[in-house]
Amino acid sequence: VITVARDADLQRSNTLALPSRADRLVIARQVDEIREVVSLCGERGWRIEVLGEGSNVVLRDRLPGCVVRPDLRWVHAEEQGERVYVHAGAGVHWHELVRWCIGLGFFGLENLALIPGTVGAAPIQNIGAYGVEMESRFDHLLAVSTRDARLERLGRDACGFGYRDSVFKRDGEARFVIVEVTFLLSRTFRPVTDYPDVREELARLGGPLSAARVADAVIRVRRRKLPDPRHVPNAGSFFKNPTVTEARFRALSARLPGLQGFPVGDGRKISAARLIDACGWKGRRAGGVGVWWRQPLVLVNLGGARGQDVLAFAEAIADDVGDRFGVELEHEPRILGEDHAAG
Ligand SMILES: Cc1cc2nc3c(=O)[nH]c(=O)nc-3n(C[C@H](O)[C@H](O)[C@H](O)COP(=O)(O)OP(=O)(O)OC[C@H]3O[C@@H](n4cnc5c(N)ncnc54)[C@H](O)[C@@H]3O)c2cc1C
Repeated sequence: VITVARDADLQRSNTLALPSRADRLVIARQVDEIREVVSLCGERGWRIEVLGEGSNVVLRDRLPGCVVRPDLRWVHAEEQGERVYVHAGAGVHWHELVRWCIGLGFFGLENLALIPGTVGAAPIQNIGAYGVEMESRFDHLLAVSTRDARLERLGRDACGFGYRDSVFKRDGEARFVIVEVTFLLSRTFRPVTDYPDVREELARLGGPLSAARVADAVIRVRRRKLPDPRHVPNAGSFFKNPTVTEARFRALSARLPGLQGFPVGDGRKISAARLIDACGWKGRRAGGVGVWWRQPLVLVNLGGARGQDVLAFAEAIADDVGDRFGVELEHEPRILGEDHAAG
């Protein structure tokens, strides 16, 4: 069944609770329906945007064209000895998939517990948390190309994964509606417990180490640090952690004692939160937008904010960090739509 709405209200469909309307919203429950919609949009010249749970987007006032929500909800697994291929529809809630896999003894996703959003959005920014990135558990995906409505199979190389990045996030490249993602998981549990927060939480929980326990520890740490969008609208981390040159890292370390730098290529990845905090932004607000008091990477809608308010506030933070530390901050969420003309 395909559901189509005109002038659809999207305020409850994005975790920042930004007011926005879509000219057309299509909720598709089958791959063929998505192909049909893509063909129709091609014929009519309508731009297509895909929306999952709206947990990594900044929506402007209006999304012209057609917004497609792939409500595809199957999950099945193929076991090949140690290996397990898990195929999941794009509309499956990510955390449900993580729980399903842990319950059946398919290991590898436990550190990614409680990340909001859908399976179909996971490859877009190669979701990651607590030492694991989706890329390392990815096998391939199926997607409908918006160019010709054909179903394509994309392997890892075609997806161009990077840190919170993929080919799907880069404008100007081929555009796709992802309909299914296949993960390669293992029957053997190999714990990843490098993160001090997770290690400490595991010690507190006690008992034997298991995937369920790692997920529990991750969930507890996340609940402590991040605001729940149902109560405080937000889109998780608003900025990516920047990579700086070795020389800049040394200069910054002199000003910010104890600054950590993960070696990445020739440079170091540093904490954007630390830079924002050092500029005094934690807890600050302007109108309806603010910086979460516990985690300066998270911007929150305190009530009444529009997409453009969030973006202006984010720009003020990025400008300040740029002026003081010479480091460029990049947005993590995608910005969709356009604003009403002023006046
Ligand atoms: C409290 C909180 C904590 C978070 N923590 C993390 C974290 O630890 N790690 C992390 O990586 N992210 C995190 N995020 C960000 C977010 O959860 C992920 O990016 C998630 O994958 C977004 O899923 P979604 O379904 O909500 O996507 P949406 O926000 O709906 O869409 C995001 C982008 O993906 C595109 N898209 C969505 N579905 C498809 C599809 N099927 N085909 C093609 N394009 C698609 C959209 O067009 C948009 O550009 C957090 C967000 C919140 C609110």
